[in-house]
Amino acid sequence: MTSNNQLSLFEETSFSQKELIPSSGKIPIPAGTYTNIAEEMTPHCNQCQRCGLGATRTHAVVGRGNPNARIMVIGEGPGENEDKTGLPFVGRAGQLLEKILAAVRFDTEKDVYICNIVKCRPPENRVPTTEEIAACKPYLLEQIRLVDPKIILLTGATAVKGLIGDKRGITSIRGTWMDWEGRMCMPIFHPSYLLRNPSRQEGSPKWLMWQDIRNVRAKYNEICN
Ligand code: SF4
Repeated sequence: MTSNNQLSLFEETSFSQKELIPSSGKIPIPAGTYTNIAEEMTPHCNQCQRCGLGATRTHAVVGRGNPNARIMVIGEGPGENEDKTGLPFVGRAGQLLEKILAAVRFDTEKDVYICNIVKCRPPENRVPTTEEIAACKPYLLEQIRLVDPKIILLTGATAVKGLIGDKRGITSIRGTWMDWEGRMCMPIFHPSYLLRNPSRQEGSPKWLMWQDIRNVRAKYNEICN
């Protein structure tokens, strides 16, 4: 056998292993399956049918930003603009998120990696079900393992429940640091909630977000510099 033939045998072996990744959402994808989000995981998410959301998506929405960032922002799931473009947080809520981060000098392309609990758009933007979240969670865990952020910001109650299993309302836990697997996590309001509540008065959601994001900057300065 020539050395070229031997090499192609190895290529076929790794391809077959990817094909063996379980199509049932109840069977986990083992940690360490992927070595790269953009080149390995994203094409797989675009073929994934581990839950029913795969049937109606245009694009899987895996993530954007710096894949080596110290801060990861996790949202609920893709909306219409995200489904069309394949990028998370690109609508009005995304623009507001960029402004909030920029207010404390975080650049979303350099300092942050942004993704969602589920990679495919739930029809009519409904909240993803517990089964859909569970089916998609192995991809999120692989993203966290590969990006290896020190700080995780969970935007909204679904993100908190989906990652750390805390089912309390976002109003009661936002702004609180929580330890999850050795990483500092903070629940914050979802930017779309802030768009619906534009008041800047003291105690309003926007005012509270300003306190929270300053708290995040202080923690970043403390543990990431
Ligand atoms: S939402 Fe996640 S688990 Fe469901 S089909 Fe899309 S990539 Fe697969």
